Amino acid sequence: MPARRNASGESLYDALVIGAGPAGLTAALYLARYRRRTLVLHDGRSRALGAPMAWNVPGFPDGISGADLVARLTEQAGRYGAEIELARVVCLSASAESASFAADLDDGRRLSARGLVLASGVITNEAVLDSGNHDAAVRNGALRYCPICDGYEHRGRKIAVLGSDLHGAAEAMFLRQYTDDVTLIPKWQVELTSGQRAELLASDVKIEERQLLRLAHRGGRIEVKLGGAENALCFDTLYPALGSQPRSELLAGLGLEGDADRCLPADAFAEPLMPGVYGAGDVLAGLDQISTATGHGAAAATRLHNWLRGVEGHVMADQH
Ligand SMILES: Cc1cc2nc3c(=O)[nH]c(=O)nc-3n(C[C@H](O)[C@H](O)[C@H](O)COP(=O)(O)OP(=O)(O)OC[C@H]3O[C@@H](n4cnc5c(N)ncnc54)[C@H](O)[C@@H]3O)c2cc1C
Repeated sequence: MPARRNASGESLYDALVIGAGPAGLTAALYLARYRRRTLVLHDGRSRALGAPMAWNVPGFPDGISGADLVARLTEQAGRYGAEIELARVVCLSASAESASFAADLDDGRRLSARGLVLASGVITNEAVLDSGNHDAAVRNGALRYCPICDGYEHRGRKIAVLGSDLHGAAEAMFLRQYTDDVTLIPKWQVELTSGQRAELLASDVKIEERQLLRLAHRGGRIEVKLGGAENALCFDTLYPALGSQPRSELLAGLGLEGDADRCLPADAFAEPLMPGVYGAGDVLAGLDQISTATGHGAAAATRLHNWLRGVEGHVMADQH
């Protein structure tokens, strides 16, 4: 694909994709197959890289590790010409004059494109372990962050959920489908109404009232030391329900902002945030899953390609 140039003679990509997780790499795969000059920029922080084994990715009945999936998607997008670069985008901006977008990188470079896909994901708020290795605990299943992803793998086990607010309570209730031994542990204190407590107790979810002193990963399990308790409680798996932070800070440079939770709108893969700008994956409000992210990526890429075709005059007049 010949490189386009902007008015200043600089190389102009058809699309910049921010993020090399399942959403961004799928968008890049589709855009490259639409013969769009595509550059993926990422800072190496895909959440998928931390998934030891994903069992709910369609087409992988024996499971696939997040790192393996990202490697395969990278290879597949690259095969059709998508460029993939490790660099952090510090600012995005739009220029009406040159009908393009610019990305400023942490290495001082500025790159331009006619369209954008924001697939920048979220950052998980992690539990802090006083002893033992956090990532090793995730790898062996003692620490888990997503009951939708792997609740099934922990059926029948002794499970704790960290965070006694509505979010934690809902997660504990969700896990009751898999085991009858679920305990809610407060991060600071129990923040539940009497009605919420009653609902949990009616479903046999235990509610700890004592204050959390420390968490440890030992012998493949999680030890929870609570104030006033002589011995630590031991769980096969702990699910911290501490939420996550959308990586939506790049919206500001485009004059946009996220919702109250700083997410992009749930339909940003179909409805542009502004002409030529789409979103995909976890950074959108909704279900944070690999299959959702890849679906968003495909849809966002197709919308962007069709929008570019419209700009180029390659659509049927009666098509819309
Ligand atoms: C421990 C764990 C286990 C999981 N298990 C499963 C599972 O079994 N099944 C499942 O479906 N899902 C699972 N998930 C969730 C899954 O990983 C996410 O839903 C998926 O990775 C979302 O893809 P994404 O492309 O939207 O975001 P991500 O994969 O998080 O990718 C975001 C990308 O954006 C880049 N980025 C962000 N900001 C910038 C910037 N300013 N400049 C450059 N790059 C930037 C990052 O470097 C990264 O490449 C798990 C998550 C975790 C943490």
